[in-house]
Amino acid sequence: MTSIAERVHSDTVYKQCANCGAPIKLVSLRPDQSLGAILWSDGYVETPDRRQPPILGKCRACEAIGCLAELPEIEDTAQLPGGTDHAFVPLTVDDYAMLLENLHDISLQFHSYLRIRFWQLNNHRRRGSVEPTPLSDIERANLLELLKLLGEADADRLITAEILRQLQEFEAAETVLARSFNEHVGPMVRRLRQLVGERKAGLVKIDFDEPHQNTTLSSTGRQDDVSSTRQRP
Ligand SMILES: [Zn+2]
Repeated sequence: MTSIAERVHSDTVYKQCANCGAPIKLVSLRPDQSLGAILWSDGYVETPDRRQPPILGKCRACEAIGCLAELPEIEDTAQLPGGTDHAFVPLTVDDYAMLLENLHDISLQFHSYLRIRFWQLNNHRRRGSVEPTPLSDIERANLLELLKLLGEADADRLITAEILRQLQEFEAAETVLARSFNEHVGPMVRRLRQLVGERKAGLVKIDFDEPHQNTTLSSTGRQDDVSSTRQRP
């Protein structure tokens, strides 16, 4: 048995910034380390050590924003300068807002992802809070735009239902949830159906009534995982 630290270390890769060439360090979590992760109704997956790399990140050296998975990997890591922090800088809610205001190149390619992340980051203040926080006008506008981008895949329909629930469009959410879903997303579907039936719009944690499976949210919650990068056509 290797320790968790060793397994994490073995999954460290260095990418090269497309703008300035600086190395960007990525640490990927292995599937077995997602045990203990918390799934929220907006698809956000909270991992115990919060080191799951996002799809987009910022270069620490030049602040250019890039798709971490698509950057070329640096094979010869022996030449990397020591003593420098190469970890990518996570995007803030303001970075996502800025990208959404200027939709081109990277932001068009990842349009729905940006809107989901903007939604999830804004929801952070609701996680673990008992006080209901109404959606702001900006959040509401983002969700209405996001609804237009979602398709027919299970994960998209779940996000659609959750958005409709949070917008208190309960009957429309019921219609979406009435259709069949893959059993992999069963716990999420059953919980959302229950919440919609109770006319509850608040963000909640999803409790699993069966063993946690990594495929629970293949293209929403798992969008945090670089290895499962999905691009919209
Ligand atoms: Zn750079």
